[in-house]
Amino acid sequence: MSRILPLLHPCKPMKNSGDMNKKGLLIVLSGPSGAGKGTICSAYLKRNPEAELSISVTTRKPRVGEKEGVNYYFTDIESFEKMIKENKFLEYAKVYGNYYGTPREYVEEKLAAGFDVLLEIDIQGALQVKEKFPEGVFIFIIPPSMEELKRRIVKRGTENAEAIFTRFQSAYRELNYICQYNYVVVNDRVEEAVRKIEAIVLAEKCRVVRNKGLYLGLEGGVNE
Ligand code: 5GP
Repeated sequence: MSRILPLLHPCKPMKNSGDMNKKGLLIVLSGPSGAGKGTICSAYLKRNPEAELSISVTTRKPRVGEKEGVNYYFTDIESFEKMIKENKFLEYAKVYGNYYGTPREYVEEKLAAGFDVLLEIDIQGALQVKEKFPEGVFIFIIPPSMEELKRRIVKRGTENAEAIFTRFQSAYRELNYICQYNYVVVNDRVEEAVRKIEAIVLAEKCRVVRNKGLYLGLEGGVNE
């Protein structure tokens, strides 16, 4: 015997969900310094050509080996503050005494063109992005342990003793913000962490609210 399901109100759409299935996914990665966000991002981008990394603007001085337009767009405080006034940033924040910001136009254009966009930004920035793009996916990367985190920051050798201490102290504070994110990924092995992020992205793309176009086409029923 067939069961007649009662008619429901249509699914409540997410904010901005109108043509979400055509737009790319905004993927925000945060986590303490030394958690391995950069390594994960590079590995993810290599395997997923439909994703683009947003290169941030910063007033921090380049580290040895860092390149303009590859790691960051390096600038001075005056130019950065001018960009703030001109509304050039999707978000910006002061992290460890330097400005960092995400170029708004680049992100909006890439998403509209159907690319997924990866932002590797701090918590203050992620919270700003969440206000503007609640439909984004917010992922927090953590190290397997705090000892391992310290070992990684020291091994990296890019910071002096004071900066290492500051970054390690901030890591404890930052952990309190995990609940603001949708997912948490432990970066024990990079390969595995990347596979988890791929699984998250795949699942997010299958969410009903992102696929109105697919199921609305089926609602007409079958012609007999
Ligand atoms: P680093 O100086 O080690 O490259 O980055 C320091 C912190 O700044 C990291 O937590 C990194 O995720 C964050 N960061 C990098 N770019 C941006 C950005 O555009 N906006 C914000 N809010 N944080 C950023």
